[in-house]
Amino acid sequence: MSAIARDMDALRAWLEPHHRTGRTVGFVPTMGALHAGHLSLAERAASDCDVTVASIFVNPLQFGPDEDYETYPRDLDADVARLATAGVGLVFAPDAGTFTPADRRTTVHVEGLTEQLEGASRPGHFDGVATIVAKLFAAVGPCRAYFGEKDYQQLAVIRTMARDLDLPVDVVGCPTVRDDDGLALSSRNAYLTAAQRAAARVIPDTLQATAATWDGDAAAARARLRRTLGAAPGVRLDYAEVCDPETLAPLEGVVEGPAQALVAAFVGTTRLIDNIRLEPRPRR
Ligand code: AMP
Repeated sequence: MSAIARDMDALRAWLEPHHRTGRTVGFVPTMGALHAGHLSLAERAASDCDVTVASIFVNPLQFGPDEDYETYPRDLDADVARLATAGVGLVFAPDAGTFTPADRRTTVHVEGLTEQLEGASRPGHFDGVATIVAKLFAAVGPCRAYFGEKDYQQLAVIRTMARDLDLPVDVVGCPTVRDDDGLALSSRNAYLTAAQRAAARVIPDTLQATAATWDGDAAAARARLRRTLGAAPGVRLDYAEVCDPETLAPLEGVVEGPAQALVAAFVGTTRLIDNIRLEPRPRR
């Protein structure tokens, strides 16, 4: 079984001898309700690093007022058992009241990467993410931190935050883990009925088709994504964009380098996100 730290003092006390003796520390922040996607990050961290810490914290700051903070799935005991199997030595599971006290006055805001896409649909979301991840990085100290490409914009935001604040954290992006039907694993997939689940397949299918037919024409790829997902039964498209993979600025016209296609859509009341890299194909 992994040890559990419920507050910062316990986390720091557990880590201190490891930092002191120069062991490398892997860190995997999560909101719990763990699936094979989360566990792939934990396994990667455990294989790369001497010791691995995972956090489980349903971060109230990253949920909007009409979102699912209260009902977000929580199962700490099962999560801790899964993390132990994946090679995690310590689980940090702080209490929301003490980790986000009502009198806190500091917010971390990453400009230019947080206004578009998820940021446009979920105002304040990335401020909530960046503020809590900065606190976690400060508590864990020098480490390699593992994030999923599934949350592509989040990964870009965290990378930029760590760079701009000179945090002693190496941010490592890890590939999206998918179910057999192609749907990206997500804790929110548990909300889907069987019919909704079948309807949701159009999201990865359309992204795959976009990558397979990518010829550098960003405007055409964006239009095709929007047309297909906009007409898909049981799906309400929130956004579909083709962006620069670094700046997340929308790409126009025909581009030479890689691009990133990013999608958010509601299936029933469940909001799903996914993305795929569009690689330039070798010229014949
Ligand atoms: P969450 O618990 O949703 O905040 O996710 C915690 C971490 O797991 C984030 O870095 C996510 O990007 C990552 N993650 C979530 N789903 C997947 C997936 N299907 N494949 C890979 N990583 C994932």
